[in-house]
Amino acid sequence: MGLLYLGTPLVWDEAKKYADHVRTHGITQFLHIWDQLKDRQGDELLWGDEIEYMVVSFDDKEKNAKLSLRQTEILAKLSAIVEDISADCPKSIAVPKFHPEYGRYMLESTPGAPYTGAIPDLLSVESNMRYRRNLARKHLKPNEVPMTFTSFPRLGAPGQFTEPYFDPSDAVSSHSLFLPEEITNPHARFPTLTANIRRRRGSKVAINLPIFVDDNTPHPFIDPTIPWDRNLYPEDPEAKQGAALPDHIYLDAMGFGMGCCCLQLTFQACNVKDARRMYDGLIPIGPILLALTAASPLYRGYLADVDCRWNVIAGSVDDRTEEERGLKPLKESRFRIPKSRYDSVDLYLSEDWMNRPEYNDNPLPYDEGIYDRLRKHGLDDLLSKHISHLFIRDPLVIFSETIDQDDTSSSDHFEVNTASALQNIQSTNWQTLRFKPPPPNSGIGWRVEFRSMEVQMTDFENAAFAVFIVLLSRAILSFNLNFYIPISKVDVNMGRAQKRGASTSGKFYFRKDVYTTPRSGTSSAASTSGTSSPVDGSPGKKEKKLGNCFPPVPPPETGLDNRPPVDEEYEEMTMKEIMNGKDGNFPGLLPLVDAYLDTLDLEPPHKERIQKYLDLIRRRSDGRLLTAAAWIRNFVTSHTDYKKDSVVSQIINYDLLVAVDEIERGVRTAPDFLPACYEGGNKDRGSIGL
Ligand code: ADP
Ligand code: MG
Ligand code: MG
Ligand code: MG
Ligand code: MG
Ligand code: MG
Repeated sequence: MGLLYLGTPLVWDEAKKYADHVRTHGITQFLHIWDQLKDRQGDELLWGDEIEYMVVSFDDKEKNAKLSLRQTEILAKLSAIVEDISADCPKSIAVPKFHPEYGRYMLESTPGAPYTGAIPDLLSVESNMRYRRNLARKHLKPNEVPMTFTSFPRLGAPGQFTEPYFDPSDAVSSHSLFLPEEITNPHARFPTLTANIRRRRGSKVAINLPIFVDDNTPHPFIDPTIPWDRNLYPEDPEAKQGAALPDHIYLDAMGFGMGCCCLQLTFQACNVKDARRMYDGLIPIGPILLALTAASPLYRGYLADVDCRWNVIAGSVDDRTEEERGLKPLKESRFRIPKSRYDSVDLYLSEDWMNRPEYNDNPLPYDEGIYDRLRKHGLDDLLSKHISHLFIRDPLVIFSETIDQDDTSSSDHFEVNTASALQNIQSTNWQTLRFKPPPPNSGIGWRVEFRSMEVQMTDFENAAFAVFIVLLSRAILSFNLNFYIPISKVDVNMGRAQKRGASTSGKFYFRKDVYTTPRSGTSSAASTSGTSSPVDGSPGKKEKKLGNCFPPVPPPETGLDNRPPVDEEYEEMTMKEIMNGKDGNFPGLLPLVDAYLDTLDLEPPHKERIQKYLDLIRRRSDGRLLTAAAWIRNFVTSHTDYKKDSVVSQIINYDLLVAVDEIERGVRTAPDFLPACYEGGNKDRGSIGL
């Protein structure tokens, strides 16, 4: 999340009056950016990660692990420390940044400056992440640990799950039966978002995750921990009126989703065309990497039958009215909207010949007035549709002080970029990919953010996935890979990716022929590298760094009309096949990355380091190592306190988080989960030297 400006937020009935104002000015601001920066060229690869943590407070006497609600204090301390470090050693590595997040127990960190394409930068990702973790850790209480854990197992469960304790009866923003008001970052933006989502929707959000049915799970499972008869807020009866389904874990507040942690990556492209190519190339990768990074099988004290957070977070901010959700005929609302504002993207954006119109087969409600305005301004069909599709949403948080802005210098109605940025549309469309235009007057180029992954428990793994994706993005651009499948099939994959064990037992639609030009050789993926040579290096010579500007392949002179029907271009594959290849025809993503690495002039030790990361991913993808979700599941079901009833008790939760922390520090091994080479972070749980 961006910097936060303090102001006076409007309640929904007031805020909605300004929705058209914000949309109109948001588009004006976008068009200013477009006019100034659409021809921007030659930006180098800059990229960076975002890692989210939950601060866990361990009570070793009571054997409880709770969420520490000290975010405000912790962030204040960290920013003071960061200032100290900068003052002490101005020429040292850029000091990391810490950001607030939705949960009052959460932190986000990013590198102090983006990484470049230089190989040393690639090799520094893990130590950078570790430095950030240790910096945070060092400035917490001795019993507090910043953990990169996707969903807190007992968030919203009976008993004490926060430190200090608060009662859910005070949840004036969410009206949740389970989460207290204090779970939310107190900055006005967050309670207002929470309340305005509920008000706009006309009810509380409602998420139902199938419960994992074990030998002693009651059948049907009617959750005894739901306060079915509470009568405090007008929405309290919703649970028994059908919002809470039998055989499911019912969640009723934004905090359940926005309180999950993830790993995101942002890449700067050479120009807007390449940003659109990269965006499209990464779309089909979103669900695959969601399944491979699956890390969240536990919710509200129960084992779920899903392994990922995605549908939880999508449901947790689903502000659509009943009309928009298709439950009632359209009267007040303007559109039927198939998805939450947090969900997978609906449109491939590239104007490249590879992007056949048939691939964009999702329903796409868009604001026709905005579309026409963009087209009249000279924008192409796809980008106009993309923007006018995002702009079917209402702005949710409006601060009275910033309703009127100078559209030539601000883009705040369009997205959060500056300290005063609030009533924006783009930043509250939380999707698998984000196409990020340059902020005005910033020197920053066109960027793409990859957002589907779950955060991993160790920085070794987080670095591995970051390195894998940056290399894959280079392979996509430099080899002109074609990953297109109909976008509706990408959505089918999103659903499949979240199922229990999807990575080992699921199948996913994937394109069979990913090459754009006929290959001379047949054997390895490396033989594709002849399709183009980087423009930002001398052709034929090996590169010393990750390139950014690669020419697209021109369309074949004949044959565009003779392409097979799109439905013959893809098939169902396992994770192992997608990642490692199939039949000698489909190369697999890891061999493609290897082929790209072969185009770089890497020192052997550097190559070895990178291979360690790729090897982790290989082993996860072929089942030799467990996903985090599978490992967590096994830990719970083999715990002596587990009664085969799907319940994750306080003691199981405590022991699990103790174990995860010990694994992270390298004082406990997990040979079915991490490779033998994993050394761990810092050995001591308490005060840690840097
Ligand atoms: P948001 O929350 O809006 O997604 P953040 O500011 O939290 O964004 O994170 C953005 C990431 O992008 C950080 O890792 C940062 O280092 C990186 N980054 C910064 N500048 C650039 C740039 N010009 N191109 C690509 N990535 C960048
Ligand atoms: Mg974040
Ligand atoms: Mg961020
Ligand atoms: Mg965020
Ligand atoms: Mg930001
Ligand atoms: Mg982000």
